[in-house]
Amino acid sequence: MEKTHWFTERFESRDVVGGLSFRIDEILFEAKTPYQRIRVLRNDFFGKVMLLDDIVMLTEKDEFYYHDMLMHVPLLCVDNPEKVLIIGGGDGGSIREALKHACVKKVVLCEIDEAVINASRRFFPSLSSGFDDERVELFIGDGIEYVKAHKQEFDCICIDSTDPVGPAIGLFTSEFYNDVCECLTPGGVMCAQTESPAWSLKNVVRIYGNIAKSFKSAHLYTAPSPCYPSGLWSYSIGLKSDKNPAKDFDRQRARQIAKLCKYYNPEIHRSAFALPNYIQEKL
Ligand code: SAM
Repeated sequence: MEKTHWFTERFESRDVVGGLSFRIDEILFEAKTPYQRIRVLRNDFFGKVMLLDDIVMLTEKDEFYYHDMLMHVPLLCVDNPEKVLIIGGGDGGSIREALKHACVKKVVLCEIDEAVINASRRFFPSLSSGFDDERVELFIGDGIEYVKAHKQEFDCICIDSTDPVGPAIGLFTSEFYNDVCECLTPGGVMCAQTESPAWSLKNVVRIYGNIAKSFKSAHLYTAPSPCYPSGLWSYSIGLKSDKNPAKDFDRQRARQIAKLCKYYNPEIHRSAFALPNYIQEKL
């Protein structure tokens, strides 16, 4: 293919009119599933890029920002987490991070679309390496139904979902977060990716509000995510206690985990909860 083809993720359907473009150096894979259209592209700079319904899920070059921050912050706020549930996350990056914690004995991935898992096995070995770990159980199904059916079972639940469209819409509602809360053990912690505060603050505030309604306490934190809209991403933590996740985390374990990470470390953990004024005012 000539190096003149570009892919643009269009942000028109959100509040923004604009986009983020990558040069397509190769199209490696395309498939239409009952849930979404999967594409895997290659770009000379970003490496392989996974798209679902023309939205960038990850690039090999910078997926570590997102996966480090979605997983390690909540996992380090739980004392000795043993059972972890990941909802969505079919690329495997979140499993890979959860398995870095020696105390974790079981990770269940509940992904609605098995084709995402298969595409990741084929094209993203650096993310999907954990699928065959003996501590991992892959469950193909809807996360909404899964949490309804499991009570007080997981120490940490991470929602690694697509944006609030299509099958993921229900993963951003207070009904769902109530079920997530009940699915957690008493000291359990939940974390969800909650969109871009720079370009979708209304959405962030709405989703964060739903989480705050369902949990005893909730906290928002941010981190860069260069290939997501605006480059700034938010995550929301829901706790069944009054613990402050910016301070009450296991620093010794955090230092050990940081040795295995490209982005996460205990200082980043603390500072991620310091929010710019324009976000604080809206929460
Ligand atoms: N980090 C990514 C992002 O924000 O762009 C998310 C990556 S991961 C591939 C998202 C996964 O969530 C997709 O594979 C999708 O199939 C899955 N998903 C969407 N709705 C779901 C649901 N209701 N239950 C379980 N998985 C779901």
